[in-house]
Amino acid sequence: MKVLKFGGTSVGTAERMRAVAGLIQAPTGQRIVVLSAMSGTTNALVNIAKLLYEGDTRAGTLQIEVLRQHYHIVTKELLPDEDTVAEGLKLVDESFKSIFNLTRQPLGAAGEKVILAQGELLSTRLFHLYLTRVRGERAVLLPALEFMRLDQNEEPDAAYIREHLAAQLDQYPEEQLFITQGYICRNVQGHIDNLKRGGSDYSASLIGAAAGAEEIQIWTDIDGLHNNDPRVVEDTYPIRELSFDEAAELAYFGAKILHPSSVLPAREHGIPVRLLNTMQPEAPGTLISAHTGEEAIKAVAAKDGLTAIRIKSSRMLLAYGFLRSIFDVFEKFRTPIDMITTSEVAVSLTIDDASRLPEILEELRSFGTVEVDHDLTIICLVGNLVQEQHGAAGQVFDTLRNVPLRMISYGGSPNNISILINTADKRRTLLALNEGLFRRATAAL
Ligand code: ADP
Ligand code: ASP
Ligand code: MG
Repeated sequence: MKVLKFGGTSVGTAERMRAVAGLIQAPTGQRIVVLSAMSGTTNALVNIAKLLYEGDTRAGTLQIEVLRQHYHIVTKELLPDEDTVAEGLKLVDESFKSIFNLTRQPLGAAGEKVILAQGELLSTRLFHLYLTRVRGERAVLLPALEFMRLDQNEEPDAAYIREHLAAQLDQYPEEQLFITQGYICRNVQGHIDNLKRGGSDYSASLIGAAAGAEEIQIWTDIDGLHNNDPRVVEDTYPIRELSFDEAAELAYFGAKILHPSSVLPAREHGIPVRLLNTMQPEAPGTLISAHTGEEAIKAVAAKDGLTAIRIKSSRMLLAYGFLRSIFDVFEKFRTPIDMITTSEVAVSLTIDDASRLPEILEELRSFGTVEVDHDLTIICLVGNLVQEQHGAAGQVFDTLRNVPLRMISYGGSPNNISILINTADKRRTLLALNEGLFRRATAAL
């Protein structure tokens, strides 16, 4: 079994969908194809839900109609004759009917999730129709809402997913090709939910783990995971091989090509993940596996929107149990800590999710003085940093001698150095690292 996931751009037009139909023919054996919504759709649905939530039903309804018309055009471009177009338009209008129905009453969180789910339902239904009715292929449309589920902690429920996916697949022992939705799932109450933005990668990895797949392929619009953020730096290049740990760190710390949690299920089951480019299918892309290469620093990623908290207390000096009391506060408010550094009298840490910040600060003030900084960015450098003889850390700090560094974390894992900077300095930091670490390295080859 192989899992092949195609992202929004890869299924973004009728032409791209046709190309995907060709690409999924190459691997032999059983395949589960996971699709995102067509590019732009989830953003449009988020906007519609926002308008309805704010009570602007008029603008909301107008935007729904604009999107429906767009899907009518796509359907006519994708399908060749009147009969299949009529079938396609019927599928499209079913999805839009469920959105229009939600304009009748004030929109709540549950209704919003139903709206957001329509993107992946639309793309998979249209693609499946095209494959089976136009290309005459055998393919089964698997409903993700029947097997993809969150537990009471809002985390994917691996046991449930394994059992229910197997039950779905067992109904079709003769079939080789399955199509399903990324991103969407049900929560513990059985209501429609999702795996957060970019979640189709996570779906693919969860499905791969649940089905015991031999490989997970993530097809996107770039030829693999690059050594630096291609949205900021010009001359980046794809990294051929990454270990699970390296890829997990880069995904979590801002490499947008992968959803932050998407490497974890694959790592747990030792399933290789290949990042491939739909626009350039012959490019080798990136292979993520248990194996790691020799390079000292392989890649850099940046994660914005961080908040730093510094707690200063003389009670910390020579005391034990102090850190635990601090961690208890974050556990109580279910807020993960990303980075932490300590001295004898102070602890600095960063959080990504500041939604419970006021309550967290109030409790922390009972330990000492508390300072907060916003608009911070973590720069994460990943590679094989076990052997300090590479002098990697020294090279990094030399490169960044003109950038104010707010926190540094080194040694927590053998493959990562993290640095906290002001977001205003992000661009020049990424450019400086490119110049100092990668340009110099490629020039020496
Ligand atoms: P998809 O819609 O296929 O899921 P995404 O837009 O989520 O695609 O991810 C691909 C994009 O991620 C690329 O177009 C690129 O701009 C961005 N990106 C950010 N950091 C990296 C990186 N280190 N390597 C590759 N792509 C990256
Ligand atoms: N369609 C969802 C999004 O745009 C999920 C995904 O594309 O991975 O966030
Ligand atoms: Mg994505």
